[in-house]
Amino acid sequence: MIRFEHIRKEYENSTPHKDVNGVINDGEVVSIIGPSGTGKSTLLRMINGLEKPTSGKIFYNDDEITAPGYDLVSLRKKIGMIFQAFNLFNNMSVLNNLIVPQVDILKRDYGEAERRAKALLTEMGLDKCYDRLPGQLSGGQKQRAAIARTLVMDPEVILLDEPTSALDPTMVSEVENTIKWLIDGKKTMVLVTHDMNFARDISTRIFYMDDGEIYEQGTPDEIFNHPKHSRTLAFITNQKILELVIDETDYDLNQIQQKIDDYGRTQKLDQSSIYNIHSIVEELIIQCVFTHIKDANVSLSVFPDEADLQYKVKYTGNPYNPFEENNLSMKIVNALVRNVSFEYHENSERKNSLKFIGKKRY
Ligand code: ADP
Ligand code: MG
Repeated sequence: MIRFEHIRKEYENSTPHKDVNGVINDGEVVSIIGPSGTGKSTLLRMINGLEKPTSGKIFYNDDEITAPGYDLVSLRKKIGMIFQAFNLFNNMSVLNNLIVPQVDILKRDYGEAERRAKALLTEMGLDKCYDRLPGQLSGGQKQRAAIARTLVMDPEVILLDEPTSALDPTMVSEVENTIKWLIDGKKTMVLVTHDMNFARDISTRIFYMDDGEIYEQGTPDEIFNHPKHSRTLAFITNQKILELVIDETDYDLNQIQQKIDDYGRTQKLDQSSIYNIHSIVEELIIQCVFTHIKDANVSLSVFPDEADLQYKVKYTGNPYNPFEENNLSMKIVNALVRNVSFEYHENSERKNSLKFIGKKRY
């Protein structure tokens, strides 16, 4: 069991934690979510003593690990951490990456350490990689090897800080499946993630961090479907919305495309739905609106709704409904959307307002 009591953490320029209180029970999988800068990584680092609170206490079982002189080396034998940037020794084979810490830290004899390392690597599908250096592995293999290296030490608790955020999108599900596999109901796991679907999928409880505290905690259903407090609701809702502002006089198409791809990935949209969003942005906004409205400023929001995506597009300028056009761009867009409505609001900043529903597949 891990327990936080009135944790306050001050840095020179920020105070991420004002009063953090909470309990993580044995065998739980707790995901920590929240806006960036709210102290999620700092809290994780405090659990294995890499960081100390300015005031307050942390208990691991009955021991106060924040007490002066507490034996952090023995703590770290029980609590393994997997970082975002793979924590492997780059000058050592994968096998030795797993053997050396067992021999050095746990004082296991070499034969036993080797046997355990091989068994685990085989179980994790890395038996072809024993002799490779980390630099010779794919990103996903590297992260699985890093997980194996933590696991071979038999920790009671596993801490993971955004384990998939440095990975190429195609590697994410491979590593997520490995993390699912290592949840065995005995080990306690604490995970910082911005992948809400993954958090919902694997967690027994969610901590939503904001405003210097664990602002709200609950089961995935409570936090994602019925959040009680305003900031939690705003954060959860925001995660689901893609919001883009595209200004004709100053926009970066690459960056826009990147945002669409990131959104598609975190929302687990299929490839054709992501492609549809790209097409709608390029044909409707760039080809039509920018051609007809001088210096247009456009906002686009996309929000998932059951099996569909709801779109809202607003833009400056005189009344203009691109759906009245019969050009190639709008033929493409028309094939991807339905239930189009157009309104012109005299007293808005962006007076033109389009709403429609995009199919997630076509
Ligand atoms: P999160 O993981 O939620 O994004 P962090 O725990 O990384 O947040 O950081 C919380 C705040 O503490 C941020 O404002 C960050 O700049 C600050 N911070 C984190 N680590 C340090 C440090 N070692 N020195 C100074 N400030 C830090
Ligand atoms: Mg962080």
